[in-house]
Amino acid sequence: MGENIKMLTELGKLYVVATPIGNLGDISYRAVETLKQVDLIAAEDTRHVKMLLQHYGITNKLVSLHQHNEEKYSPVLLDKLRSGLSIALVSDAGTPLLSDPGMPLVKLVKDAGLDVVPIPGACALITALSAAGLPVTQFSFEGFLPRTSSARKSFFNERVLLTKTWVFYESCHRILATLQDMVETIPLDRQIVIARELTKLHETIVKTSLGEALELVMQNDNMRKGEFVVIVDGAVENKKDSVITAEQEKLLQVLLKEVSIKTAVAMAVELTGVRKKILYQLALEMNKDNGIQN
Ligand code: SAM
Repeated sequence: MGENIKMLTELGKLYVVATPIGNLGDISYRAVETLKQVDLIAAEDTRHVKMLLQHYGITNKLVSLHQHNEEKYSPVLLDKLRSGLSIALVSDAGTPLLSDPGMPLVKLVKDAGLDVVPIPGACALITALSAAGLPVTQFSFEGFLPRTSSARKSFFNERVLLTKTWVFYESCHRILATLQDMVETIPLDRQIVIARELTKLHETIVKTSLGEALELVMQNDNMRKGEFVVIVDGAVENKKDSVITAEQEKLLQVLLKEVSIKTAVAMAVELTGVRKKILYQLALEMNKDNGIQN
């Protein structure tokens, strides 16, 4: 194995190296050898990566490449590659470019016709999906969500009917607010997985309904600590037309104020594509709540 790994890095190549997302053991032999052999390591945070390098006895030259300097500094690194140096790109955790810096450099190097070599390893989204127990034949990775509540609700509204699994990254500062926005836009019985602190001491992977997940995060302080991947089950194909989004509900409410229940339901069917029976039932309930005799 060691012999194969030796002499692995070649001149003028960019190596995109995945590093652990928590447990320092989660790094490949090839990644360690690459980090030892390249001429230069471009790291998101040089202080952070030093801990990993120390752990594996790697002493190598570090330069910093982060979201605030990557547009400017990537051409400098390209020149170094052109002059024959080999460079490894690492982020603070996991696979570079996945919600992490590196895209401008990789694009530049590829466009220049030089080799970009991936050294695969940990990635929080794949780690979470592998243990979630939700369908993974097809999925959609959404990265980090918008910061404001209204933008998040629009985001969820756009995905409520998606039939494949979808996944996003979340921080401890926003996990509760995000779940609160989700329950306003997504059916409470939708299955979700909250994967927290993966590969670390307090790793928690909970699969439950959206409604129960919110309860859990509200009641348990620990469930609001650390790093999160949230996975959402897709809408069931044959139930798709019976899922009503918050926006569709609002539309029906507005129509009910203006026209008869029959016309409101007919218009809502036309505009939303939701089944008539479902909309009619909802309209009856809405009128009842508003004290209107049907
Ligand atoms: N490039 C990284 C990857 O390959 O997963 C992701 C970097 S992104 C800046 C950091 C986010 O990834 C965190 O806010 C969290 O949502 C997720 N994440 C990273 N490590 C994690 C872990 N150990 N457990 C759960 N989520 C994690």
